[in-house]
Order: sequence, then C-alpha cells, then structure tokens
Amino acid sequence: MKTDSQLLGAIEAGGNKFICAVGTGPHDVRDRVCIPTTTPKETLVKVIDFFQSRHRKAPLVAMGIGSFGPLDLQRDSPTYGYITSTPKPGWDDTDVLGPIRDAINVPIAFDTDVNASALGEHRSGVGVGLHSLVYVTVGTGIGGGAILDGHPIHGATHPEMGHIRIPHDRASDSFAGNCPYHGDCFEGLASGPAIEARWGRRAESLPEHHPAWALEAEYLAVAMANIAVTLSPQRIILGGGVMKQRQLFPMIRRRLVEALNGYAVTQDSINEFIVPPAREDDSGIAGAFALAQDILDSKQEAT
Ligand code: ZN
Repeated sequence: MKTDSQLLGAIEAGGNKFICAVGTGPHDVRDRVCIPTTTPKETLVKVIDFFQSRHRKAPLVAMGIGSFGPLDLQRDSPTYGYITSTPKPGWDDTDVLGPIRDAINVPIAFDTDVNASALGEHRSGVGVGLHSLVYVTVGTGIGGGAILDGHPIHGATHPEMGHIRIPHDRASDSFAGNCPYHGDCFEGLASGPAIEARWGRRAESLPEHHPAWALEAEYLAVAMANIAVTLSPQRIILGGGVMKQRQLFPMIRRRLVEALNGYAVTQDSINEFIVPPAREDDSGIAGAFALAQDILDSKQEAT
C-alpha cells in the first residue's frame, strides 16, 4: 500500500455527473463524491471545493481528468483544457482544466473520457498485458478511445469514432438519425437516444428479443469492423448503458466475423476480441487515476 505522500486526484467529467476521487489508485480510493453536472460554474465550484478540502488535509501530488468533449488537447493552444463545441447546453467553450489547475497547483493530465476508460481497462481491467485496444462507449452518445503501443492516441484533436459513417439502409430502417451534426452517423443511428427516438420507447424498456437489438447489433458490428481494420487493436471493449444489454455481444460477434471475412479477427478469437469492460462503470475513474500516475511519473523522470 502506498502512503499518503502519493495521493492522487481523479475526475471522470461526464455530461450527467462528475465523479471525483482521491486515493493512491483505483484499488485504494480514500474518498469519492458524485457531483451532478449542472452549469459549468456551479459544477466546477463543487469539484474544486472537494479537492481543495482534501488537498489541505493531505496534499495531492498529481491529478488526472477524463472529460466529455469535444476537447482542446493541444498543449500549445490558448484554449487547451477546454470543452469546445459540445451539444451539451451551457458547456460550449468551457475551460475545465484552468480553474482546477489554478485551485490545486499540481501536475494535471487532461484527456477524453473514452481515452481515460481505455486506459483504465488497459491498466487494471480486460486490457492488462495488451499493447493496443479500443474502448467504445454506447450510451447517451457514442465515443471511442484508443490505446496504441500502451498510450492513448490523440491526433490533431482526438478521435471521434462515434461519428464514423456506416451503411444505413433506409428501406429497412427509415429513422433519419439524430446526430445534430451528421444525422445518420454511427451515434445518430445507434446511441441510446437514437434507439428511443426510432422505437418510441426507452432502450432499457425494450424486451430482449425486440427487433431493435438485431438492428443495433448490425450497426455496432459494421462500426467495429471499420475500427478493427483502421486501428488494428488486439481487443475492442464495448461499454456504456446500451451495452448492458448483454444479448448484443453474441450478435455483434457473429456479424463482425461475417463482415470482416477473415480480416483482423477469426471465429476462434472473436470471443476475446469483442468484450465488455471488466470495471463496468469504473473504467473512467480508474483511467483518471492512471492519467494522474503517468503525469507524476513523467515529471519525476524529468527531474
Ligand atoms: Zn455525428
């Protein structure tokens, strides 16, 4: 067990709630709160209050934040650490990192919520021992984070796997899609709100054998086929509220093997290729701890 001199702060900043935790890692959480996501000011004041009071009692040495986005992750940008053009009302152009950094003066790592979840599973979930994996969340939105060679990838901004284009046969699915930016992109067709809008019922109220799930599995499988051949991950982890419908997993696996036709994955390896998260709802906060530990290690290596 690590000592209090190695206390880390971790934040999973979501569209509905901010989970804030203090501890030496995900297996040793000393304190944790869940703060509803209201206005940016009100939410961030509560987040800062939580960490400042802990920091005064026993100083933190680093923090990690996994946030909903889109985010500015370019370190040399004047708006680094901001949520940028989000459809979440009131959160457009919000500086998330700045006020926290001003209040708690320790190294802070900032990344997407899905990269944090990918990292959480990589360090202490179903991704342990792998060098490359993708984590896709399917819930109120769809997003994907990728770990390649052990590190989250960013690119010019960061991947937006929820907005890839997938085949949409309007003859069999006349729903136009509900992404405010693209209509029938992956998120517009397959997120929880898309399922609800198409069928007129909340996704979790649809019975296990409802045709909604076969269609959902089709969209998820073709999206995963694109991700599998683009990034070549060793494993794809499917989390989020919609994926609690466990009947989706065998349907996605079957269709994915068929769609890839020998590429990227085989019938023998499919059960280990498409998996649910080990940490279920805790992947993100585990990843935020991993982000904090990594930035602490990199600072210590540099000195
Ligand atoms: Zn979209």
